[in-house]
Amino acid sequence: MLSDRLGRPLRNLRLSVTDRCNLRCSYCMPEEDYVWLPRQDVLTFEETETLADVFLGLGVDKIRLTGGEPLLRRDVSQLVRRLAGRPGLRDLAMTTNGVLLAPLATSLRDAGLHRLTVSLDTLRHDRFRDLARFDELSRVLEGIRVAAPIFEGLKLDMVVIRGVNDDELTSMLDFAREHHAELRFIEYMDVGGATGWSWSSVVSRADILQTIERRHGAVEPLGGRDAAPAERFRLADGTTFGIIASTTAPFCRDCDRSRLTADGLWYQCLYATTGIDLRSQLRAGASAGQLTAIVAEAWAARADRGAEHRLQARDRAPLIPVDSLRRDPHLEMHTRGG
Ligand code: SAM
Ligand code: SF4
Ligand code: SF4
Repeated sequence: MLSDRLGRPLRNLRLSVTDRCNLRCSYCMPEEDYVWLPRQDVLTFEETETLADVFLGLGVDKIRLTGGEPLLRRDVSQLVRRLAGRPGLRDLAMTTNGVLLAPLATSLRDAGLHRLTVSLDTLRHDRFRDLARFDELSRVLEGIRVAAPIFEGLKLDMVVIRGVNDDELTSMLDFAREHHAELRFIEYMDVGGATGWSWSSVVSRADILQTIERRHGAVEPLGGRDAAPAERFRLADGTTFGIIASTTAPFCRDCDRSRLTADGLWYQCLYATTGIDLRSQLRAGASAGQLTAIVAEAWAARADRGAEHRLQARDRAPLIPVDSLRRDPHLEMHTRGG
């Protein structure tokens, strides 16, 4: 099996299908204006399928569709259908903000989407508007209500930010339980467009656990995490939840994930500043074998441990200044798919 310099296999691919979004979350897209990927650069479904096959041939068995907002990509269910049938693919998932989910949930499932994660940071309408700049909480909640019975084991991802939504940990746990969904608390990260990030706004894994224990009593770690980013826990009443401690306790050592942007740039780490342009190779006529060789060679040389290196940074501030983000939108989280 193909592995990198730290012995990590290539197993997980996050596939961004668009860089556009219908929200403007303050921790991801805080600016007024954005430079979008040129439309002609965005991979067609056929091209996406060709590149997916290259990755599947090298050991990838999990693909997660993301964005920007993946449900903004026209006919995304068709892409799901094309990918779901690929040999070697064990798990096809999607992360969405849920705004457009209600009318699409059934067709996504019918097309073969296995698992779904909805990002939800607050249950308060005023707060949602402040956080995401659009008054869309009702549509997101409706999306979750419709999708929960269709996608068993639905996950809800909440980025926890101090002084913004850290008073909603228990109400979010209650909400998730009511919908038979599993909540995952995500530490605020300093990547991409998170230009407002500061250490003081991070609510750490330890803080999250302390708050939950104070309210719900002992929390039992569930183990069995492997290369998954979330550590899972159980409360005495059986409720399970996860924590993704990307900022204070990064999991680079086991990271088997890479990212393909909507225009076909391949990044081996969320924190990497350069990616490999697979679209140009593909459009220049590279064969599947040649593309496979490019990916295999690059993965074998991979030594990235972006989040772990960031932990050692002194006087840590947002990773990328706004000017650089404008010059290269590939550095944005909404382009890389989170
Ligand atoms: N638009 C979709 C959504 O929000 O679910 C998919 C793309 S979004 C970039 C993927 C994930 O990245 C979301 O769960 C979002 O909360 C997370 N994310 C974005 N910026 C982040 C940051 N600065 N820290 C932690 N998570 C972040
Ligand atoms: Fe929010 Fe996702 Fe859009 Fe980023 S891409 S602004 S996290 S909805
Ligand atoms: Fe993987 Fe890079 Fe994230 Fe570490 S920082 S977990 S190596 S993507």
